[in-house]
Amino acid sequence: MFKIGCHLSASKGYLDMANVSEKIGANTFQFFTRNPRGGQAKDIDENDVKAFLEKSQEIGIEVILAHAPYTLNCASSDEKIRNFAKETMKDDLMRMEYTPNNLYNFHPGSHVGQGADVGIKYIIEILNEVLKEDQTTTVLLETMAGKGSEIGRNFEELKQIIDGVKLKNKLGVCLDTCHVNDAGYDIVNNLDGVLDEFDRIIGLDKLKAIHINDSKNPLGAHKDRHEKIGEGTIGIDAFERIINHEKLRNLPFFLETPNELDGYEKEIKLLKNLYKN
Ligand code: FE
Ligand code: FE
Ligand code: ZN
Repeated sequence: MFKIGCHLSASKGYLDMANVSEKIGANTFQFFTRNPRGGQAKDIDENDVKAFLEKSQEIGIEVILAHAPYTLNCASSDEKIRNFAKETMKDDLMRMEYTPNNLYNFHPGSHVGQGADVGIKYIIEILNEVLKEDQTTTVLLETMAGKGSEIGRNFEELKQIIDGVKLKNKLGVCLDTCHVNDAGYDIVNNLDGVLDEFDRIIGLDKLKAIHINDSKNPLGAHKDRHEKIGEGTIGIDAFERIINHEKLRNLPFFLETPNELDGYEKEIKLLKNLYKN
């Protein structure tokens, strides 16, 4: 079954996100674990979680994707900033266990001029502290556009992180189509080649989710500005190939396009129509 959803506001809780998803034709969703700027998380409401888990069964939500605040920087040169990222991730992962067996995505970080190798070493240190043998959540490294000093601008950097982490079975990758386009991977003209490269360097078994976004910028622009599906430089034909590709079609797809709910509803309908059952 085609697993498709979009980024939703978590302000009214889990059950509300399931209800909204149902209304717009989605069967999964992504949400921020807390204010994207990294503030205090709301207390988990166990009744809400219970109602959500029941609703998920009813409407066929198999997996959801939590997104860490995008301001966390595990690769910072400032120890206080790294510690804040670590404590936030620890807390998020503890909360994730209320909704077991799901995905938690984070931006690897920016090395802020120290060089990627130093940044990657810090990211590995944090992952080795926050990942636990008994957790059911898979933590995903997001592929990044390579804006500024972002780490994760290529598959090699993600592989370098994975290689340093002890509990590798708790780690995966979330591929963002806008980001890889902006990073220089030609998913429009050479999707097979890009996936082969991913497989050779990281291994496709590590690919757990897709952020499905068009891009406002051309291949290799290192910009990271999302566009509505079909209105950017990636284009609708490429998205049809992406969602139907034999190596991708069973993964969950999450829209993070510049839309309100009605726009997301339209894009979900559009993609469902293109998906070959
Ligand atoms: Fe992201
Ligand atoms: Fe993304
Ligand atoms: Zn982005």
